Amino acid sequence: MIEVANVSKRYGSIQALDGIHFNIDEGSCFGLVGPNGAGKSTLMKILSGVLQSFEGDIIVHDDSVVRDRLKVKRKLGYIPQDLCLEETLTARENLGYFGSLYGLKGKVLKRRSEEVLEQIGLKDRGKDKVLTFSGGMKRRLNIGCALLHKPSIVVMDEPTVGIDPQSRNSIFSIINQLKADGSTIIYSSHYMEEVEHLCDSIGLIDKGTLVECGTMDELLHKHNKPSLFISGHQLNQELLSAHGHVQPKGDGFLLESETPLAALQNVIEEFRLHNIEPRRLELYHPKLEDIFFNLTGTQLRDS
Ligand code: ADP
Repeated sequence: MIEVANVSKRYGSIQALDGIHFNIDEGSCFGLVGPNGAGKSTLMKILSGVLQSFEGDIIVHDDSVVRDRLKVKRKLGYIPQDLCLEETLTARENLGYFGSLYGLKGKVLKRRSEEVLEQIGLKDRGKDKVLTFSGGMKRRLNIGCALLHKPSIVVMDEPTVGIDPQSRNSIFSIINQLKADGSTIIYSSHYMEEVEHLCDSIGLIDKGTLVECGTMDELLHKHNKPSLFISGHQLNQELLSAHGHVQPKGDGFLLESETPLAALQNVIEEFRLHNIEPRRLELYHPKLEDIFFNLTGTQLRDS
């Protein structure tokens, strides 16, 4: 198990992380979700032993990142958000360089480089310079550089930012393969759909604080408020608020009610009375973005 134990971090006057505490099961995929500036990168750097000055501790299989940093680092592969590649070298040369940093050499390094090129789908581009690669290919190589020493834990900081859908899908394939091989994955993103789709458990982070943590089912169960989604050009918030708590959502409104079917009947009756023709009227199941918004008042879809 990995325990994030009361981690806090200040940059001068900025409290980037404030008493973050949660556990990650071995072999699971954990998603850390929050808007830009929430503290995700800072936590990922601390988890991977890259950022050393912080309060609290990270315990990885009984080893402390504070006391046994190098031991912990050997179990980990950290993929930073910013590309860390030498563009004038080939993909194979980049892998060779990063492998040597992890202490690999000779035949083992050669074999692992070839295996990783296969794993990241760049086998046929190994001899090409990185400067000829697309953004997505560079991202895949960036991931590959952290996998050479076969880490049991892979920490990925927003690996799909700014890339095309096809490259995004190939990164998901790499992650799914790592999951199938039993790796523990810690994945940060501000794209909720990715995290909902990939991760077994999720931490929601905002302004340096962990606002919620659990499996998707647990989060939905805890925060599932039955709602109706209603849209139509003659609608207004006042008209609906007689039937429950109303908030604007997209091009319509969400009407929360403990008894959504009764609310539905009442709303239909109200529409008949006022001769209103709704465009959409349906039961609404909350998503991660709704849970986050209800907890923090912050939209995750900020970019
Ligand atoms: P995220 O990854 O969620 O976008 P970060 O961890 O990068 O968030 O940043 C959290 C907060 O810490 C932000 O307010 C950011 O401006 C600040 N911050 C991050 N790195 C530094 C740094 N090296 N020096 C000063 N402030 C920083």
